[in-house]
Amino acid sequence: MDFGFTEEQELLRDSVVKLMERHASSEMIRQHDRAQTFPYELYKAWVEAGLLRLPFPEEVGGLGGNAIDLAIVVQELSRYSADFAMAFGGSIFCGLNLLRKGTPEQRAYWLQRVMNGENIFAIGISEPDAGSDVGALKTHAHLDGDHYVVNGQKLWTTGAGLKGSVINTYVKTDRNAHYRKGMSLLLIDNDMPGVELRKLEMLGRRCVGTYEVFFHDVRVPRDRLVGLENGGWDCLMGGLQIERAVSAAGSCGAAQAIVDLAVSYAAERKQFGQAIGSFQAIGHMIADMQTEVDAAKMLMWRAVWLVSQDRDALKEITMAKLFAAETYAKVANLGVQIMGGYGLNAEYDMQRFFRDARSATIAAGTSQTQRNLIAGLMGLKAK
Ligand SMILES: Cc1cc2nc3c(=O)[nH]c(=O)nc-3n(C[C@H](O)[C@H](O)[C@H](O)COP(=O)(O)OP(=O)(O)OC[C@H]3O[C@@H](n4cnc5c(N)ncnc54)[C@H](O)[C@@H]3O)c2cc1C
Repeated sequence: MDFGFTEEQELLRDSVVKLMERHASSEMIRQHDRAQTFPYELYKAWVEAGLLRLPFPEEVGGLGGNAIDLAIVVQELSRYSADFAMAFGGSIFCGLNLLRKGTPEQRAYWLQRVMNGENIFAIGISEPDAGSDVGALKTHAHLDGDHYVVNGQKLWTTGAGLKGSVINTYVKTDRNAHYRKGMSLLLIDNDMPGVELRKLEMLGRRCVGTYEVFFHDVRVPRDRLVGLENGGWDCLMGGLQIERAVSAAGSCGAAQAIVDLAVSYAAERKQFGQAIGSFQAIGHMIADMQTEVDAAKMLMWRAVWLVSQDRDALKEITMAKLFAAETYAKVANLGVQIMGGYGLNAEYDMQRFFRDARSATIAAGTSQTQRNLIAGLMGLKAK
């Protein structure tokens, strides 16, 4: 058993940390959070550093990294901002989907554009009536000559309004079939005629943004279909696994940043003539926080290691996503408690961590959904 990183992985981690130290100061992140703006310059720096090439194979211009490399990057980015890291995650996991399911022409065209930053991928699954119940989605498309005509509405689409965003949109192409057999995946530019975007006012993750997307007779060229017509369920399921593994890595990174901030604050803040960290109540709180964050990391590294070995890891990924998200939300809450009033003040980072953390147990599948899945994989499937 080996718990260490290779030399290359250490170098990768150091280079991401250096890049973020150079381009993403606390003040810069705070300003973007306040203004609810996306840091395009930082994204460009990620592109120039090759981060967007990381998990794609060399034959399509990528760097051939594996799931462990990906988790290292997402964990480090999320220590600064789990919000910013979402733009990286969306492009990467939709890109990996395209790698698996796209035609050679689609791979050559789209992956190049994602790797050089011309396009950012967003994922459009959820709708007003289709949240945990993904199969209930209603947005639909029918063929008219060489185009699909799309009508409907998506909700909570992360990053849909970013410049160059291409929404990986799941639509019904056969309304009479079971959802597993009547769904397709289309790539829809966010500025195609008939696409209307509304940025939603959210508690956290306000820079990459969460959007409502309306499709009014949007004409989508037929070559934007990924995989088979009515084969979208396969794309969706394949994509969710990497999304959840990546999201667990993000939760672990952000949770560690919260603990680090809590430790430094508790060491400095004095009340009753001594550092508050020397009070057992605070010290034990922090000890428990770090222990749980380490446990979340263990689950996450096990899951990504299994993925890197091409081993079946559905249960392990789901457990990692569940526990990392719950831990992230929990330590963010405790972090605020440790900082008292300062934890709620906009001039300190804890409130941002707290706001960004709250969605972790909801986005990419709620904690309840993860528990249902784990119990199902243990033979306790709901009827
Ligand atoms: C910040 C943010 C970003 C997001 N980004 C995206 C995105 O980019 N693309 C996208 O497609 N979606 C995105 N989502 C949507 C996300 O995937 C859904 O919010 C999530 O799947 C839950 O759906 P819902 O919000 O409709 O809640 P519902 O499904 O209505 O659930 C409400 C409550 O009921 C519980 N519940 C539902 N069914 C069951 C059940 N069978 N057993 C037990 N409990 C159940 C849920 O756990 C939850 O507590 C995002 C959401 C958030 C908050």
